[in-house]
Order: sequence, then structure tokens, then C-alpha cells
Amino acid sequence: MTGQVLASSAADVSGDFQPQQERGQRAVFCGLTSIIWMHRKIQDAFFLVVGSRTCAHLIQSAAGVMIFAEPRFGTAILGDRDLAGMADCHEELDRVVAQVLERRPELKTIFLVGSCPSEVIKLDLDNAAQRLSREYSGGVRFVSFSGSGIETTFTQGEDSCLTALVPSLNQRESDQPHLLVVGTLPDIVEDQFRRLFHQLGIDCVEFFPGKSSTELPEIGLNTQVVLAQPYLGETLRALQGRGAHHIPAPFPLGVAGTAAWFYAAAAAFGIPEGRVEEVLQAPRARATRALSALRDELAGRRFAMLPDSQLEIPLARFLALECGMTPVEVGTPYFDATVMQAEIPLLPAGVSWIEGQDLDPALDRIRSARPDITVCGLGIANPLEAEGLRTKWSIELLFSPIQGFEQVADLAELFARPLRREAKLEVGEWS
Ligand code: SF4
Repeated sequence: MTGQVLASSAADVSGDFQPQQERGQRAVFCGLTSIIWMHRKIQDAFFLVVGSRTCAHLIQSAAGVMIFAEPRFGTAILGDRDLAGMADCHEELDRVVAQVLERRPELKTIFLVGSCPSEVIKLDLDNAAQRLSREYSGGVRFVSFSGSGIETTFTQGEDSCLTALVPSLNQRESDQPHLLVVGTLPDIVEDQFRRLFHQLGIDCVEFFPGKSSTELPEIGLNTQVVLAQPYLGETLRALQGRGAHHIPAPFPLGVAGTAAWFYAAAAAFGIPEGRVEEVLQAPRARATRALSALRDELAGRRFAMLPDSQLEIPLARFLALECGMTPVEVGTPYFDATVMQAEIPLLPAGVSWIEGQDLDPALDRIRSARPDITVCGLGIANPLEAEGLRTKWSIELLFSPIQGFEQVADLAELFARPLRREAKLEVGEWS
């Protein structure tokens, strides 16, 4: 199945697709949350949040980190004296950085991550990063980006981090066409994708971010960028500013989405459709088989999505077209028409698409529609569960490998499990 075939199975909403806009009270994590999945990926980097105890609690609880664990992130706490301008924050920052590097001499990059408090006191972390890079004379790279709740939501932290890294990418001189897959992917997914690209004949493929912060990809006029995550609009524009070309593609969620993603990348490299069909045939057949049992459980069930991760649009497309579920309302914090251009022709019709958030009216609509499952942030899930509504935490979709053929059944299972649990409770199996 090609992307075109997939498109024909969806209703035509592409002509004037424009989500309804909502503005009001929001309930979305800030961009610091992205550190949780990025620190697992970039294995020689440390994320140093310059923030308050609230920021420290947020990332500790989002990560479920035990107090004695030593993860590759931490918080330089801004105290009352810092906030009142009575202490030299840069001296404090230098001391904390020295401590981190003494304990972890293997680190190659330290990200200084801005927060609401550091923004409010106008702490210049860009300057601090440049100064520290000079002081550690090239041995450690310092990069600053903002994860503050004033500027970013949830997945935008990754967009902000990768955008900040783009100026560090070296210029590519080689004429060889080069594929750059952009967006944090679990290692297992990266390895599967790399294998399939090699089978397609695309040998020069790199992932950004990769496992190492020192082996950054080069970028140039022969670089073709395909996004693996839908929340990276600013990173994409920064890469285009360095000469890279964007391959518009649906996102690799679900069997059809993954196939269309590979078809789009292969087309940009002039690989004939027949060859793509040959390479994708076996993994796609396996994924279709694995999904079929779960489709029986999910078909006909109704779902809603509250705006949170920016994964909502491709996920809704997967649940509607491949799992037979009925979307009631799909909210996304931001709608980026460039990033979503290849998704739009695939979207089911008759759905209420909403960009932005006005929390109370959105919750009222959910209460009235009573969908079988609502995808939402952690803070909203518990109250809805208490009202007898089943939920799925959107953060789980960022922590779990869900992209690609081999993960299709796992992705569907994330939605089937709460429904199955509810059915068991209803018949008293667990009583
Ligand atoms: S950055 Fe802002 S929103 Fe995020 S935890 Fe810190 S204070 Fe809260």
C-alpha cells in the first residue's frame, strides 16, 4: 500500500483543513518534561535545569526517579537570594557545573535548561553557555535552551533543545545524498529504521539526536530531512535555514503511516516504488497480522484527545483508519501546517479538530460525550477516572517505543489495555 492508497481510504478534509482555535486555561506540562526521554537517548550529555524546587519535583516525578539514583539530569536550585538578586547566579552555576563534571568526567555536553524562574530573573543562559564552553576549552560543549512553562509545553522542550543544537552541526561538503531522521526515537526503533533504509539502498542515513552528543550529523544542500516526531517545527525551520530539504511525510505511527513515511523518504532518493514494496512487504505483513487481533477489541470504540503532546493528529489518524475507532474530538496544543501537510489528506472527516485549549469547556464536552477513552495529561486523567471515564496518559506515548512496523501492536495495546481492564472490572473478574 502506498501513501496514495492510504489517502484514498480517508475522507477528503484536505481542501481547507483548519482546526478550530481555542484560547483559555491550559493544563499541559512544561518543556522540562522532554528531558526525561532526551537524557535516555543522548548518553554522554547532562541536562542541568536552572530552576526552582518545583522544577526539580516536576522532572523527578515525571521520571519516577528514586532519590538515590544518579540520572543524567539535575536541577541547580535558584534560592530566595538568587531570586531577590542578592547572589551572583553565574558564580553559583559555575560551582554546580564544576561539581557535576567532577562526579561525571565522561560527560561531553551539558545542556543548561532555562525555566520560569530563570526567565523571570532574566538569567542569561546563552551567555553562560558560551562562557563555560570557553572555560572548559572545547572539552565539554555547553548549550542552552528553554524548557520554561512560559515559553514551552511538554514536547516543545525537545524542539527547543534540537533547535539550539543546529548551529553546532558542521557544514556537509560531500555530494552524496544524505538522509537525516529528526526526532528522538528509542534505540530499538532507530536500529529497525536504519536496517530498512539500508535495504532500500539509502546508506547515508543519520539520526538527530543520536546516541552521542559529540557525533552530530553534518548538514548541507544534499541533506533531506524527514521528521520522525510531529512536534519539531522550529528544528525543521532551523535545518532548512542551513540548506536542508524537507520531505513531507505522514508520521511513522501504525502500519499505513509507517509505510507512507518510508515511501516518502524513498521517493526523495529516487527509489522505485516496486523496490520499496519488496522491502516493506514482510514487516508490513507482520505488523498487519499483529494489529488484527487488537483491531477487533478497538473497532467501534469512541475516543477523545485533549491537547497535550502534539502527537494527537497522527495518533487520531491511526486509531480511526487502522483500528476502526471513532474520534469524537481531537485537540492539539499547536497545529503546524508545514509539519502536518502530509497527514492532512489522511484525516477522517466529521471530527472536531481543535488547536489550543480552554480546559473547562473541553472537560464539559468530554463529560457530555462520554467517549470510551480520553487521551490527556496526567493532571486531568485522575479526575476523569474518578467520574468513571477511562483515560490514557499522553506522556506514556512519549516514553514507549511506538513508531514503526514492529511497534504497531504495542501502540494499539496501549489503548486496548484500559478498555480491557474496565471490561474485567465490570464483570467482577478482579473482585
Ligand atoms: S519550568 Fe515553570 S512550569 Fe516548569 S516546573 Fe519549573 S516553574 Fe513549573
